[in-house]
Amino acid sequence: MRNQLATELLFALSQPGRRGALFPDSDVPKKPLNELIPQSALAIQPTDLPEVTEPDVIRHFVNLSTLNMCVDTHFYPLGSCTMKYNPKRHERLAGLPGIVDLHPYQNPSDLQGMLEMLYGMQEMLAEISGLPAVSLQPAAGAQGEFTALLTAKAYFEDRRENRTKVLFPNSAHGTNPASAALAGFDCVQLESSEEGLIDLEDLKTHLDDQTAVFMVTNPNTLGLFEKDIKQIAQMVHDAGGLVYIDGANMNAILGYTRPGDFGGDMMHFNVHKTFTGPHGAGGPGAGPIAVRDFLADYLPGPVIKQTEIDSEENQFVLETPSKSIGRIRTFYGNIGILVRGYCYLRTLGAEGLKAVSENAVLNANYLKIILKDVLPVPNGELCMHEFVASASKMKSENGITAMDIAKRLLDFGFHAPTVYFPLVVPEAIMVEPTETESKETLDAFAETIRQIVKEAPEFLHDAPHSTDISRPDEVIAARNPILQCCET
Ligand SMILES: *Cc1c(COP(=O)(O)O)cnc(C)c1O
Repeated sequence: MRNQLATELLFALSQPGRRGALFPDSDVPKKPLNELIPQSALAIQPTDLPEVTEPDVIRHFVNLSTLNMCVDTHFYPLGSCTMKYNPKRHERLAGLPGIVDLHPYQNPSDLQGMLEMLYGMQEMLAEISGLPAVSLQPAAGAQGEFTALLTAKAYFEDRRENRTKVLFPNSAHGTNPASAALAGFDCVQLESSEEGLIDLEDLKTHLDDQTAVFMVTNPNTLGLFEKDIKQIAQMVHDAGGLVYIDGANMNAILGYTRPGDFGGDMMHFNVHKTFTGPHGAGGPGAGPIAVRDFLADYLPGPVIKQTEIDSEENQFVLETPSKSIGRIRTFYGNIGILVRGYCYLRTLGAEGLKAVSENAVLNANYLKIILKDVLPVPNGELCMHEFVASASKMKSENGITAMDIAKRLLDFGFHAPTVYFPLVVPEAIMVEPTETESKETLDAFAETIRQIVKEAPEFLHDAPHSTDISRPDEVIAARNPILQCCET
């Protein structure tokens, strides 16, 4: 019997008069709403709500939550997404009344503690990136890319340079071309080399005085470090363009190298990936950006500055940069996630962050090596924080696809890795174990994959067999969701 309480709507459980709370009798005479408030002023008509008890509600939502896998219940090696464990301590800290009870319209002199924390976050991100000017506003990685590209655009317009092209390799995350197109640039996709790295020859043929920005993920989505990155950055700079580093996933390089040191002019962070903001199902996130000093004047406002004033009340102030592209999000950004990231960074410190990267890279290489006879990895001897295997040999030999393996893993209590991305690897299986997993978990995962590939292909094509829903049409599920809020 599986979770009937979760799949039934609360409306189905509704019984007249059931309540989740006890209210004292009202001492105000009862009158219909429209006698108290004129009909014309009732913007929203009162709606029917389910009448249920507290246990009904709790069981409904707790059961609903068990229909899905999450990092708190299962190993979740989703490549590119960094599903590392999110420490519960951060939840407690981010939920302190001094933080959640703040109102963004409060006078900044009443918000000095929060502003100090956000200022500290700006400073730490500047240090980690090697890029001095930070905006905490963007609410996601994709919005960070978009914001940085608008910043670059404002910079070129200011210099009266008409640069219209944004370049990126064919291994790029889909948000790169999407952000470039949204920011009004022409997108140019480059080929990758045999090794799965940026092809310098191809890059050279596309660089010209129309090139605004070259966007690159490093380590790239194949989990490989772009070893020629300095030379690449030099080539882009010689053509007058800027280098954008997609830093959604910094897990391999924290404390070892910095985008600003290997030639990047701008980057974004995904606080919800690298710095343990709990994420999934599209939110919430925080995608701060860091840029070189000559781009600082164009950043969205407000940024937080520390003044010389020796007074507790006004030490941290809000400033809009002189040539700002304007606001990109309301208030101060997605503070709840920024606070969790701040706690993470302060807890680990510089040495701790270095250890994060060491263990993330070690875990990825361990798993890659113990799996390589069943899941060969076409590119690279060693990987960084993730690796991309290919099931194409298995597919041609016995018809087992990357999708079959991913789906069957669910039956064994493992979340599936990312599949069919990046596009440059056929039948791609992209695995990112992260540093928070033990050797025992990695061994169990590898053992399960070995077992799966020995199973009958027909059996695998129907997997998963134990979940409530087996194989939804993913395109229809994503594009035409049927949202039910009440019985019709
Ligand atoms: C996740 C990711 C992004 C986009 O970040 P969102 O917060 O989902 O918008 C961009 N680039 C790479 C490489 C990513 O992994």
